[in-house]
Amino acid sequence: MHRRDFIKKVILFSLSFVILKTKIMANTLFKPFNLVDGVFVNNYVSHKSSFKDFWKWRRESSKPEPISFPIVENDPEYLKSNKSEKTITWIGHSTFLLQIDGINILTDPHFTKRASPLSFMGPSRTTPPGLKIDELPFIDFVLISHNHYDHLDSKTIQLLLKKQNVNQPRFFVPLKLRDILSKLGARNVIEHEWWQMTQFKNLEIHSVPVQHWSKRTFNDTNKTLWCGWVVKSNNFKYFFVGDTGYSKDFKNIQKKFGSFDLSTIPIGAYAPRWFMKDSHCNVEEAIQIHKDVKSKKSIAMHWGTFQLTDEPMDEPIKLLKDLTKQFKLNKDEFSYMTHGQTRKI
Ligand code: ZN
Ligand code: ZN
Repeated sequence: MHRRDFIKKVILFSLSFVILKTKIMANTLFKPFNLVDGVFVNNYVSHKSSFKDFWKWRRESSKPEPISFPIVENDPEYLKSNKSEKTITWIGHSTFLLQIDGINILTDPHFTKRASPLSFMGPSRTTPPGLKIDELPFIDFVLISHNHYDHLDSKTIQLLLKKQNVNQPRFFVPLKLRDILSKLGARNVIEHEWWQMTQFKNLEIHSVPVQHWSKRTFNDTNKTLWCGWVVKSNNFKYFFVGDTGYSKDFKNIQKKFGSFDLSTIPIGAYAPRWFMKDSHCNVEEAIQIHKDVKSKKSIAMHWGTFQLTDEPMDEPIKLLKDLTKQFKLNKDEFSYMTHGQTRKI
């Protein structure tokens, strides 16, 4: 072989080697750190619940009576005109409207009849949404914690997009949820891995790890990520916990953010403990989360709207009242709201 040809070949070989190596490195860098064999995993427990466990729970479930809770009349005109006050409105379950510095935020929006893929069966709403979709102010962005039907409701997303057809809200979602949102018509979707941050006007939106799982169809267990969300402005920090079991993740979150002015923390869907403990905190653990993240004020969510699990629907708030007294929390340090209620923060 001619010497020049040989050198050419060596250079080409080295170049392709460098390109291949860069590609491998890039893939390693972009691979989510908690994705193992195509499924996402938690930091402190592995999700092992099986179909067998699920059927055991369904067979043994005590299926308590659904309970309706009171609803207060809201003032949607005030919410629509409000540009300066910080407010929080509980619409039901994990759905809150937050107004921070004139920016309107919705969490896990659910406004329809059932938390189910089917329109005729599955957990149905016992208390109507505290605000109708049409009564909402212009929504700047939506935070979605994971793909379970009580948190990601396709019909609600479609109604929201229909209402804000031209100027769609931005959707912040955990990894791998872009597809479902896009199929529903959302054009403005930002996917986050745990600990990622995006700036929205003067707010920082951070996704954080919580201990849960995901499933929407027969064969997609943990193929999409779950997370909590932190919204941070110059002088205010809000933590939307999402759905979670109790774990050391909360102490890690506190280390990063220092403390919170307001958190919304799930207190329901904890029974039976043998089946729910890893993925749903009970009331005592919810209070521990409030303490771990050093939240000045916390508000209960994930109760009183859908009959999902075995505890009576009014048990979480009874326990919250008892335990916050027992643990000597200040009055209103960890409280609950009425469906439809707006509070100034
Ligand atoms: Zn869930
Ligand atoms: Zn849930």
